[in-house]
Amino acid sequence: MGVLRTLLLMGSQNQWLRERAPRYRFVRRTVERFIPGETLEAALEAGRALQEQGIGTVFTYLGENITDAREAEAVAAHYVEVLARIRAWERPAEISVKLTQLGLDLDPELCYANVRRLLEAAAPHQMVWLDMEASPYVDITLEIYRRARAVSSNVGVCLQAYLYRTERDLLSLLPLRPAIRLVKGAYREPPDRAYPRKRDVDANFFALARRLLSEEVRRNGVRAAIATHDRALIRRIAEFAAAAGIPRSETEFQMLYGIQREEQRHLAREGYRMLVLISYGSFWFPWFMRRLAERPANLLFLLRHLVFG
Ligand SMILES: Cc1cc2nc3c(=O)[nH]c(=O)nc-3n(C[C@H](O)[C@H](O)[C@H](O)COP(=O)(O)OP(=O)(O)OC[C@H]3O[C@@H](n4cnc5c(N)ncnc54)[C@H](O)[C@@H]3O)c2cc1C
Repeated sequence: MGVLRTLLLMGSQNQWLRERAPRYRFVRRTVERFIPGETLEAALEAGRALQEQGIGTVFTYLGENITDAREAEAVAAHYVEVLARIRAWERPAEISVKLTQLGLDLDPELCYANVRRLLEAAAPHQMVWLDMEASPYVDITLEIYRRARAVSSNVGVCLQAYLYRTERDLLSLLPLRPAIRLVKGAYREPPDRAYPRKRDVDANFFALARRLLSEEVRRNGVRAAIATHDRALIRRIAEFAAAAGIPRSETEFQMLYGIQREEQRHLAREGYRMLVLISYGSFWFPWFMRRLAERPANLLFLLRHLVFG
């Protein structure tokens, strides 16, 4: 793992920085690249604009590691409102939630009750995605996913290609006919849990994507969302899908708001199923630091705003 990436990921968990960084204009200006605003209205407006370009949307209200049960319940109530506001949208309009924002650290049962509330509020066409957080949360996230999947068909979970365990997790989930969002992984993980080298993460991502798109798995009704901005991987996976006879409209890619915008539009124009995850809210600091860690070149934007305002 690069030194800069490690430092940025350490910074994402630093309380002192978390309190101070958002006060600076140059930091806020850089954040604007990745979030359309702090309010739900701003996120919905950005989502509508994407829908007009043939791109579906997934909404995430920023926040994690909540320590107050009432706050976790308020987050669930907020998502219930979001589901209602996007129910009639023409293209896919879904939500993605962090279990630690729904109370996982406080009590897994409280968290599960909040997830159930979302599943009950979601229409059959509205997928509720569970984000995958740092590795100590993987077991409990998958356990909650299994319980949720037993009562609802529109619940999906994220799996991270950087973890050695993910192949095993994927195999154990397949009989449930899950919806899986495959990502590389965004947290600081030790080398005994995650591939330290990018090239190995990429190779594992491709191997997992191939399995998700294999005929046997698809026949079983699994939804696979390939969530990456890595254009080389996207091309390889698109070629694999085409060779396997999967129509473009059923080959799904997902990206984050503000990253590779041109590629998002290009894939949508080419007929692929393209969804963009839009994050919004005021608790953006740790999330933003993970985006910087993914691409330290983003620090240049930060410096540019520092110098030129
Ligand atoms: C829809 C979606 C949901 C996600 N959910 C989760 C989750 O639940 N849990 C989790 O751990 N991670 C999640 N992630 C983040 C993911 O794990 C990666 O950290 C992130 O996507 C960067 O990896 P990459 O696949 O784009 O590949 P990389 O190899 O990191 O990047 C490939 C190229 O994409 C561009 N790029 C990538 N990141 C950035 C950036 N921040 N700014 C500018 N350009 C960039 C660059 O051009 C880079 O060369 C999610 C990502 C997406 C797209």
